[in-house]
Amino acid sequence: MTAAIDLANQGFNVSLIEKQQELGGNLRHVFTTLSGESTVPKLANIMEQVGKHPKIRTYLNATIKECRRICGNFKTEIQGIDAVIEHGAVIVASGAEQNEPGEYCYGQDKRSSRTRFGQASQCGRDDKQEPLAGMKSIVMIQCVGSRDEKHGYCSRVCCSNALKNAIKIKELNPKISVYVLFRDIRSYGLREKYYRLAREREWLSSGTTWIKA
Ligand SMILES: Cc1cc2nc3c(=O)[nH]c(=O)nc-3n(C[C@H](O)[C@H](O)[C@H](O)COP(=O)(O)OP(=O)(O)OC[C@H]3O[C@@H](n4cnc5c(N)ncnc54)[C@H](O)[C@@H]3O)c2cc1C
Repeated sequence: MTAAIDLANQGFNVSLIEKQQELGGNLRHVFTTLSGESTVPKLANIMEQVGKHPKIRTYLNATIKECRRICGNFKTEIQGIDAVIEHGAVIVASGAEQNEPGEYCYGQDKRSSRTRFGQASQCGRDDKQEPLAGMKSIVMIQCVGSRDEKHGYCSRVCCSNALKNAIKIKELNPKISVYVLFRDIRSYGLREKYYRLAREREWLSSGTTWIKA
């Protein structure tokens, strides 16, 4: 969306093809940033700019059926709305999907869940303490299904999220014990500040424990 806005502001016509019924991608499921800001108004603002821009045409519930290159130009057929677009450049911004791990009883035992924990991280929203109700301790396991032979890369998202969630949980209920099992914490760049902040929560009555696994 930001690429579309940048290009459209330079005078190019942009076709934005989205397979879901609404724009927003992963950001629709992330409600606060590491610094605690709400993503909701930011996303709404970007979506409004896209929606209002006279040079951006958005196709929802649409995927690409075929894309052909003819003499330096492209001809793309869109499935779902049966349209054909002729264009000179392509930006692939298909993003990422969260992994569904098979380890640690994920999906078999309701206590092993990403969703529930994700909800806890959204406590910045209206539901506040609700996702944490009744919890005495929370264990976060980092790098599950990642940085192994099958997926030999780091998503660069999980450690920062663990920091964000640990800080948020301790803010909401300092009595909950938080354990983070990690290989190494990858708090890129200035995100190190939040690693320090999360570690400082150890001074609270029952702290966040960082265990190198
Ligand atoms: C749990 C979590 C927490 C995060 N926390 C933060 C944070 O605190 N701060 C931060 O800056 N970033 C954070 N991120 C990262 C941020 O969400 C991503 O960087 C951002 O969403 C990437 O945007 P994107 O448009 O590139 O991809 P995506 O958000 O993945 O969007 C891709 C879009 O492409 C569509 N699409 C895919 N394939 C096709 C196809 N074939 N045809 C048509 N459409 C298709 C998808 O439906 C989707 O709407 C977090 C991510 C996650 C998962």
